[in-house]
Amino acid sequence: MNKKNIFQEIILGNIKSKIIYQDKDITAFNDINPKALVHIIIVPNIYIKNMNKINKKHIFILGKMLLVSSKIAKKKKISKNGYRIVINCNKYAGQEVFYLHMHLLGGNYLGNIVS
Ligand code: AMP
Repeated sequence: MNKKNIFQEIILGNIKSKIIYQDKDITAFNDINPKALVHIIIVPNIYIKNMNKINKKHIFILGKMLLVSSKIAKKKKISKNGYRIVINCNKYAGQEVFYLHMHLLGGNYLGNIVS
């Protein structure tokens, strides 16, 4: 069996993680090394390496990731004060996990913090 990416293992429930939200398309879980009081990772359940690999077929899933982020932000009560969504792509952006993901950051003043 192929070695799975860490985020695939989380989606499958093979690695213990605090799942915030999951449906047939999307999984969201707490970042293991939070850069803000609220730091949640949102991923598609299908593997996409990063933004360089998206195409028209992914429009629905990408839109849904934003919708789910917005709903989680409201549920976590960070929407009023504000939050940030970050997607890192490749080396210069500091992408560490090569499985497309959004960072949802909030709960405190973010200043120049990016994730
Ligand atoms: P990036 O630098 O955009 O690739 O972000 C990867 C993020 O994944 C970092 O913020 C890590 O802290 C987070 N991360 C890595 N491993 C885990 C894990 N097992 N559970 C939750 N978050 C993780």
